[in-house]
Order: sequence, then C-alpha cells, then structure tokens
Amino acid sequence: MKDSFGREINYMRISITDRCNLRCRYCMPEGICLTSMSEILTFEEIEQVCRAAVGVGITRFKITGGEPLVRIGCPQLVGMIKSIPGVEQVTLTTNGVLLEKYLDELIRNGLDAVNISLDTMNADVYRQITGFDSLTAVEKSIARSLEKGMRVKINCVPQTGINDVEWNDFARLTLKEHLDVRFIEMMPIGWGKRCAGVSGDALLERLKAEYPGMEKDKSLHGNGPAVYYRLPGALGSVGFISAIHGKFCNSCNRIRMTAEGELKPCLCYRESVDIRKVLRAPDSSMERLESAIREAVSQKPQMHCFGIGDGGDESRQMVQIGG
Ligand code: SAM
Ligand code: SF4
Repeated sequence: MKDSFGREINYMRISITDRCNLRCRYCMPEGICLTSMSEILTFEEIEQVCRAAVGVGITRFKITGGEPLVRIGCPQLVGMIKSIPGVEQVTLTTNGVLLEKYLDELIRNGLDAVNISLDTMNADVYRQITGFDSLTAVEKSIARSLEKGMRVKINCVPQTGINDVEWNDFARLTLKEHLDVRFIEMMPIGWGKRCAGVSGDALLERLKAEYPGMEKDKSLHGNGPAVYYRLPGALGSVGFISAIHGKFCNSCNRIRMTAEGELKPCLCYRESVDIRKVLRAPDSSMERLESAIREAVSQKPQMHCFGIGDGGDESRQMVQIGG
C-alpha cells in the first residue's frame, strides 16, 4: 500500500524480543528494563499480524530483536510466516552468536537471507564493543551460512577511534566471499547518541582512493536503503546505509513492529499504533488488524529528523526497537 507521500510500503521489520546475549555499547545499556513475556506478542499473534500485513500489500518481513535467536522457537516462526500465502520473503537480522546452531532449521523453514551484525574482526575490540568473547562463534556462523549457500550481508557500524580503522578489512571480505558488507551510520537513538559514528561519505572517499576502479552496483540487493559499490574483481558488494548524511526517506518502504506489538511508522518518533490491543480485544478481526496497519502507514512522516533540533522524541533504546 502507498503512504500519504506516495511511497510503496511493502516491508515490515518485526522485533520478537528485547532480550539479547550481547551488550553492544550503542544499543543495549546495562540495567535496561526488560518486557515481561505476557506483554510480548506470541508467535500466533505475530503470524496474525503478518497475515493482515499481506492483506494490505506488505509481503516482505525481517525478523529482528533484541537478538531474535535467543527467543526459543525463532526458526519455527520463520516457517509460520513463510507459509502465509502471499509472503514473498522472510529474512533475519542477528548478531550471529547462535546462528550456526539454528542455521539448518532456519534454512529448512524457508529463511531467504541473513544479515549478520559484526563491527570488528579483532577479538579485543569485539569484547570492548559487545562485552563478550563471541567473535569466533560469529565468524563460524558466517562461514557456515556461506557454505550452505545462504545470502549473507554483514552489518558494520563504524565508530570513531574504536573500529573505524578496520574499514578496509571489511571491504576486502567482498573480494573473496559471496557476501555484501554494509557500513551503517550510527543513529542517535538511545545510547547511540553518546557514540561517535563515521559518516558514509567519509568512508566512501577512503574506499574510492584505495580502489579507483570501483563502480556503483545498481543491482537489487534487498529491501533496504543501502547504496552499493563493487570493488574491481569482487564477488560481493560494499553498501552504505547513511541514515544521517544521505537521508533516504523518500524511498522509505517500511514500518516496524516492536516485540510488544507497537507499530512504528518512523524510527525517530515515539508515535506508534498499539496493535496488541487490537489483537487481544474480544472483537479482534482481520479487518481491524488491517485497519491498524493502515493507520500506522498513514502516520508515516515525510522524513526523519535525526540531526535536526533534538532529533525526534523516541526515547527507547535500539534493542527495544529492532534496528
Ligand atoms: N541483535 C541483532 C543484531 O545485532 O543484528 C538484531 C537487532 S540490532 C538492534 C539490529 C541492527 O541495529 C544491528 O546491525 C546493530 O548494529 C544496529 N544498531 C543498533 N543500534 C544502532 C544505532 N544506534 N545506530 C545504528 N545502528 C544500530
Ligand atoms: Fe544485541 Fe544486536 Fe543490540 Fe548488539 S546490536 S546489543 S547484538 S540487539
């Protein structure tokens, strides 16, 4: 369906938990209050929302979190959504720590692609960013996913003075592996406001200087706003998700749903539509669910306001939204 600015909205990011097995410094501060399980949508409720979403033209779904794989049964949910008539694609965003364990089940249940978040390939820096020693597990998950023929994108959030020196190590991964690496600008959400990110433009300049023969890659890479380039002879591409410096709101195609069932029209604003209330009402129906989704889509603002004034009124941490 189209929103009030004529944008086609066909993609929903669904957070299935606000729990996580890592503590990335820009995403999940210690001491954050977790939502009780009774407040979180059940898989059956999420499936109902997806059916209603398909009814209004949203056919691509991303499972996210928190860390989606810490919620027991995540692979089953992938299968439940994938078998809804009209669903075109179900993908997953994960930190990769548990991915190797669940990979076969996810593939059997129809997962179409996986985004694996990895900010550094240095074990000490990994611990500094995430608080844990899980780098080897993530690297194994990436290798296994590629072996199994899964489409893989690596999400990397460069931070000044922490992992930004590794930009070329990440870019070089695309030379020898069939994967995409995406550099994501730090967004001023929650603790992200306290962390200094690196602009996509600055990284692109470095990349162009290092690889003068690199070309823009105009092929379709998924549902996101990334702009892609291909290094000479590379198997994969390097993408830039420049939410702040390369505002891409005019091509926004998505809404988000938090684990408690709040439909978020835009990342930077608190405003949301409570679809859990609709799901749990005695007179709940497909029509009412569809109308709640239409309401959220109709509330999409023209653009986000990160970097302007106070940067929006969303006070939740990214772990509570799903990225
Ligand atoms: N736990 C999963 C993971 O790490 O992929 C899924 C949830 S996580 C919130 C989704 C993505 O959001 C990750 O790639 C993470 O790096 C990114 N992210 C979290 N906080 C961010 C911020 N403030 N700015 C930009 N990206 C952020
Ligand atoms: Fe957890 Fe992902 Fe947030 Fe890191 S980015 S704390 S892995 S939810």
